[in-house]
Amino acid sequence: MGERSIVVDCDVVQADGGTRTASITGAFVALRLAVNKLLQTNALKEDPIKEHLAAISVGILPDETCAVDLDYVEDSAAQVDMNLVMTESGRFVEIQGTGEEATFDGEQLNEMLVYGKTAIEELIAAQKNTLYANEENRARIVDKTIMIATGNLGKAKEFAEMFAKEGYQIKTLKDFPDLPDVAETGSTFEENARLKAETIANILQCPVLADDSGLKVDALGGRPGIYSARFAGEHKSDASNNAKLLYELTDIPDEERTAQFHCTLVLAAPKRESLVVEAEWPGRIGRIPRGENGFGYDPLFIVDKTDKTAAEISSEEKNKNSHRGQAIEKLQLQWKEWLEGEG
Ligand code: IMP
Repeated sequence: MGERSIVVDCDVVQADGGTRTASITGAFVALRLAVNKLLQTNALKEDPIKEHLAAISVGILPDETCAVDLDYVEDSAAQVDMNLVMTESGRFVEIQGTGEEATFDGEQLNEMLVYGKTAIEELIAAQKNTLYANEENRARIVDKTIMIATGNLGKAKEFAEMFAKEGYQIKTLKDFPDLPDVAETGSTFEENARLKAETIANILQCPVLADDSGLKVDALGGRPGIYSARFAGEHKSDASNNAKLLYELTDIPDEERTAQFHCTLVLAAPKRESLVVEAEWPGRIGRIPRGENGFGYDPLFIVDKTDKTAAEISSEEKNKNSHRGQAIEKLQLQWKEWLEGEG
């Protein structure tokens, strides 16, 4: 929060590990709710909480089994026990543990970490359900609603047309301002699109479409790829991303400047294996930006077999041929049967 900070003190009196970790998890939920209120009333402009977190106790019991969320009896008897605090992207805030009048080895430590991590992942999923799968949000999902996991209304419009033809209405993240930001922690386009679609489908219990796209440049070994939006740093700007791309390709000759725009779409629904489609749009990277249409890397992307950049063609032409356009076309052929079929 910059110069302001919030300290949530989680001291508990005469408690075992389970009570202490439960109080940390609970304090986080209280903080999340408080910040949500500040965001809703515009007292805060930006969400200072970037990730969910939870805490758990884990230990090895006298019979050598590993257990999580220890109760008083388990905590007193454990040969070794630990408290773990971890964020949703799997980063630890705290690992605290001791052998209770004994020692423990690396294998036991790893076992406790694996059990603890899994338990925290489950806790975070439950936390999100409790926070966001509330009556108010659920009531806004009527029959035949598909949620598009984007705040970009231009993108949402392209998808809406496909679903509207079959009598479905769409909602976007803009309709659910209290939903959490899903961190794009995956290492592939598919993982990131799945994360967004499946997390929100789970919370709202409705079908959710998410996309992830980016530019893959052959001479850069496929970079910027999933990092396309933040190629030049977290404070993303199309101009700085394009400048960095040109700089990195300075000495690369024209024939080696080949690239593809990539798009992966994931449609997720509760209790269903997600539907995944993807498409690529080939081209090459120019030496100076050209054209006024489009966004992102469009002014540098010369469409394959043409002399025009993606920013020099009309939006109709782009939508028909682009990675996103082609992926939507593929989805169009499959989504209805997938959604209305047996599952
Ligand atoms: P996202 O899938 O909306 O996160 O997009 C990732 C990033 O890839 C964007 O911020 C752009 O930099 C780039 N990108 C994806 N699709 C296009 C496109 O059609 N034209 C230009 N840039 C794109």
